Amino acid sequence: MAETERPCVLIISGNDPSGGAGMAADIQTVSALGGHPAPVLTSLTVQDTANAYRVSPVDPGLVTEQAATVLADLPVRAVKIGLLATAEIGSAVASLLGDHSNLPVVLDPVLVAAGGADLAEQALEAVIVEQLLPLATLVTPNALELVRLAGSQAADRESRARVLLSSGCDWVLAKGADEDTVGVENVLYGKSGFVESFRWTRLPGHYHGSGCTLAAALATMIAKSVPIPRAAADAQRYTDFALRNAFRPGRGQNIPGRMAGAGHRLG
Ligand code: PLP
Repeated sequence: MAETERPCVLIISGNDPSGGAGMAADIQTVSALGGHPAPVLTSLTVQDTANAYRVSPVDPGLVTEQAATVLADLPVRAVKIGLLATAEIGSAVASLLGDHSNLPVVLDPVLVAAGGADLAEQALEAVIVEQLLPLATLVTPNALELVRLAGSQAADRESRARVLLSSGCDWVLAKGADEDTVGVENVLYGKSGFVESFRWTRLPGHYHGSGCTLAAALATMIAKSVPIPRAAADAQRYTDFALRNAFRPGRGQNIPGRMAGAGHRLG
């Protein structure tokens, strides 16, 4: 494939120095699926494969300056938003993307690390609902994030998804890996409600960066103009593949094998 055929994906997310989640996960995923990643960092974190210990946000003006500079140069086809960390960064990103309303946006509303530590300040939740959901094509909350963003009024997954849709996003892919169920069920909702349920085998062990992998895969598929329901199926298939090829480089969780098979020709 010529490099010019690689659709550019603007990634707005944080760094995880263990390489399991965050920007490293996003770059690997977009690259593995044939896109060109344009990485804009929102934050540095201190973490290992077990948990996160500290988040240091980047100056909000520097986040938007990075993104605006790239948007003025590269033919960006989709945006993937991961960890924003603070309300101020969330607002700055919303304001910039408001000027690019034709761009598809995949929003992974990251609030908590796989190990349980908070990664974002609470005030970011209102900014996500009020300023970012109206710009989002697709949002990918896990069960905990869906409850926190939809509020306590909504009683079940579908009504929570409808609350998010009423805030302005076009699609919700509600993830179920963090629920206490035998298998994993992810459900896609569109403007008129339920669209499709996807069931996956719950693989043994704990994984770091699976949500990042899924959202980055979705953004890459959308950058390739794949329609959303098919993009959702393809991105989940890739994530399942990466989880089946996971490895455990440290003492904590497994890391998805997002580049599995890459470089095999070099022996
Ligand atoms: N983004 C960053 C920078 C992170 O450090 C993490 C988790 O540690 C996440 C996103 C979310 O990770 P996951 O894909 O495991 O939900």
